[in-house]
Amino acid sequence: MSTARKFVLLGATGSIGENTLRVLRKYPDKLELVGISAKSQADKLASIAREFSVPYACLQSAPPEGLSFPDGTSLLEGDAGIESLAALPDADFVVVAVVGAAGLRPTLAALEAGKDVVLANKEALVVGGEIVTRTAEENGARIIPADSEHNAVFQCLMGQPEDSLDSIILTASGGPFRDTPAEELARVTPVEALRHPNWSMGKKITIDSATMANKGLELIEARWLFNLPSEKLEVVIHPPSLVHAFVRLIDGCCLAQLTPPSMTFALQNAMLYPERAPGVDPSIDFSSPLDLSFFPPDCSRFPCLRLAKEALSHEGNAPLVFNAANEVAVDAFLLNRIGFLQISDIIDDSLNTIVNQSADSLDALLELDLEVRRYASTRIDQLD
Ligand code: NAD
Ligand code: MG
Repeated sequence: MSTARKFVLLGATGSIGENTLRVLRKYPDKLELVGISAKSQADKLASIAREFSVPYACLQSAPPEGLSFPDGTSLLEGDAGIESLAALPDADFVVVAVVGAAGLRPTLAALEAGKDVVLANKEALVVGGEIVTRTAEENGARIIPADSEHNAVFQCLMGQPEDSLDSIILTASGGPFRDTPAEELARVTPVEALRHPNWSMGKKITIDSATMANKGLELIEARWLFNLPSEKLEVVIHPPSLVHAFVRLIDGCCLAQLTPPSMTFALQNAMLYPERAPGVDPSIDFSSPLDLSFFPPDCSRFPCLRLAKEALSHEGNAPLVFNAANEVAVDAFLLNRIGFLQISDIIDDSLNTIVNQSADSLDALLELDLEVRRYASTRIDQLD
């Protein structure tokens, strides 16, 4: 009988999905794929099903006529299909690599079924941090962070005594506009914003990196993963993306984790945890000079980071409002409907209008999420 860990990979066709597959290819005897999902790109999903002989696949809607999945693959459909994949009896682990708040329901479905979740999707914790962490605890399921900064923190804390953590410092590359003067930011285009200096990622997170909303979302993600108050969570700019995070321990010692900017390191660590094995990509080369510079972020040029910090310190549902408004605004920016700086305007406006409603059940969270999306969309329509 195979002793390989059995994985479901939700969001298999995306950037995190591709990096997860690279780890799976390297360790076929240790890691087995039993389910995959995607929103679209049916042909890409079918070829993954073929390559890995995956028994279950799920698409958001029916595949185009003429496209066939392998005989051994059962095809599921829609949100119900993704949720049943997340709870697949045959799986031990679920990698959530879906983008956006759409990651919340499948994350909960996996945790409710007692699966360990390798969490790349950050929006699920931003929107439903309380319910997600409670569901994990109630079902004895683990959330293993795969976002590079949070995985770095996870690694730095290994072997440290409980209660020894003082604070967490997440690094940020600063994105493509790190040094762009404030007056030029209003005119930057989606094409320029999609040119990230270090990381190759999906469009949404690449725009979030350019506005620094990504680091704001990650502060909120860290609050739930490591249970620290907002004043113990910091951000530092580190252009080369070699150090992914620091932990500061109560005695003042700071520990860091370093790799070149590839997601395979964090994903492999989370998927094989606690086992260590040779990596997919080469490690850091110390034979030539390395830039290990760090400096504080400029929240005046990157208001999304300030707004996320404020949302985090308000507790309640301000982080959900931040996230939903950001998702709508990023879509509109990518469609050239609003300018770069209007992304933060839409978030600010939404936070000022729809703040801190007491929604705590999944249904109430999803309803509030919809309300914010409707509000943000209306504001964008008025700008057109
Ligand atoms: P992506 O856009 O490249 O891929 C997203 C995947 O999710 C695709 O397979 C897509 O089909 C699927 N998907 C999209 N919308 C969906 C929906 N509504 N329902 C179900 N499936 C849907 O995104 P990505 O860059 O791989 O990022 C995925 C998540 O991981 C995001 O939350 C992101 O913040 C996080 N993350 C990404 C990186 C990275 O390097 N790309 C790093 C750290 C964290
Ligand atoms: Mg990250």
